[in-house]
Amino acid sequence: NVRKVEPKRDARYGALTDAHAGALEQLVGGSANVITDEEHLKAYNSCWMNKFHGQSKLVLRPRSTEQVSAVVAYCNEHRLALVPQGGNTGLVGGSVPLFDEIILSLGKMDKIESFDDISGVAVTQAGVVLETLDTFVGERGYRVPLDLGAKGSCQIGGNVATHAGGSRFVKYGSLRNSVLGMEVVTGDGTVIDSLKVLKKDNTGYDLKSLFIGSEGTLGIITQLSIACVKRPHASQVALFACESFDSVKKVLPLARTRLGETLSAIEFMDGAAVQLALKHLHHVEDPMPGEQHPFYVLVEAESAENFVVEQLMDRFVTEAFEAGLAVNGVMSQNDDQKHKMWALRESLPEAVQKSGNATFKYDVSLPMDAFYALVEDTRSRVRGQEGVHCVGWGHIGDGNLHLNLSAPSKGLSELLEPWVYEWVSKHRGSISAEHGLGQMKNHGILYSRTAPELALMRQLKQVFDPNAILNPYKMLPLV
Ligand code: FAD
Repeated sequence: NVRKVEPKRDARYGALTDAHAGALEQLVGGSANVITDEEHLKAYNSCWMNKFHGQSKLVLRPRSTEQVSAVVAYCNEHRLALVPQGGNTGLVGGSVPLFDEIILSLGKMDKIESFDDISGVAVTQAGVVLETLDTFVGERGYRVPLDLGAKGSCQIGGNVATHAGGSRFVKYGSLRNSVLGMEVVTGDGTVIDSLKVLKKDNTGYDLKSLFIGSEGTLGIITQLSIACVKRPHASQVALFACESFDSVKKVLPLARTRLGETLSAIEFMDGAAVQLALKHLHHVEDPMPGEQHPFYVLVEAESAENFVVEQLMDRFVTEAFEAGLAVNGVMSQNDDQKHKMWALRESLPEAVQKSGNATFKYDVSLPMDAFYALVEDTRSRVRGQEGVHCVGWGHIGDGNLHLNLSAPSKGLSELLEPWVYEWVSKHRGSISAEHGLGQMKNHGILYSRTAPELALMRQLKQVFDPNAILNPYKMLPLV
């Protein structure tokens, strides 16, 4: 019952006329907030990986909720399809059109509305870049409980729409815990004001949670409130080399036991991924020059006090060596060293991108006993294919593996799909851990969800977006 349907432009959607373009330009406050020239449209029509491409002729850049609402109401009336776009760093083609859908770019809605330094709650427009928000609350002693490699470009609205996980999920948990309220424009232009700043609020259904992870298919997130956490003053990062994946697995419970609540990140990289980064990216430094190991684990601990982190880390590292889990390791002595270790981990997507003409990315959740077997089995499957790299890394504390391949051409996908999804489903994993389904995996939703769940999702779509103008051809399978 899992079938990939070749997308075709749905004839129910209207075509963009000059009259529509003129009316929409007025609704967003004039030509300064509109993009129509071919050259500038390219970046909006193409994803970060240069893998998914659309042919939109119009990008709208509203500045307020009222403008978003007016645009959506107009598009709903005229059946014009819309694609909400944040920082366009998504990895499943969710933020780019397939055909001529209008792009609604949130980048000009970049105002941080308020911050309460007693509760730590920030209220912000959706288009604020994650790093900007984090710097803003950082100056007030707090941090956004979300961190990821694309932080300099992705937007908080895009993060919430994808339900991004990132490297601090292991400490702070899901955005569903920290997003307290939201303002959303649904498919007919209605503004739903659920912009609460309360940590406890059991009044009826939790509507805002429906929009978290809905990938722009149920509504446009225009504002949100998020509970930030106190910024720790002290941190330390250790990078271990391990000889087997069995050792990597055992580092995890040891880190949890010895570092307790100070454990703020635990990331895994295989040696092949590290070698790709060292080969293709000059800004990345080799943490253990002259050595190559099959696996690496980056562990970060944070606390309000230096001595706490130092003592706990020392004991943890000593035990990891005594138990034979680590064969070499480096521990940060200053911020520059921490930064370099993180830079290595965060550079891996770019390294894969640079290592071939075509890339294949699979973001999956797996039980720990199947975790690295997927990389090994994929390597066996592509063995003999010229110029192919197959590497793995991920947020191992959350059971989240990023399987990545690069190849000289796109042809490899026939070997990989649906094989990877079937493999994951057979091992009781999820085909989408944190990146969403977008247009890449929407056909595969039934690998990880049941038919009644899918039916209910379709009903929800109908309720929030009756004419299906919001982000068509994404998330739900095509029929
Ligand atoms: P976009 O890519 O613009 O959009 C993503 C989806 O959200 C689309 O479906 C879009 O239509 C929708 N959308 C965007 N804004 C809105 C809005 N305001 N209202 C409604 N819908 C909206 N992801 C992780 O989870 N963890 C990681 O560790 C991680 N690391 C990454 C590292 C790199 C180098 C890169 C390039 C990406 C990484 N990602 C990661 C993926 C990506 O950064 C996240 O999915 C991010 O949350 C997307 O935010 P964005 O603003 O770029 O959204």
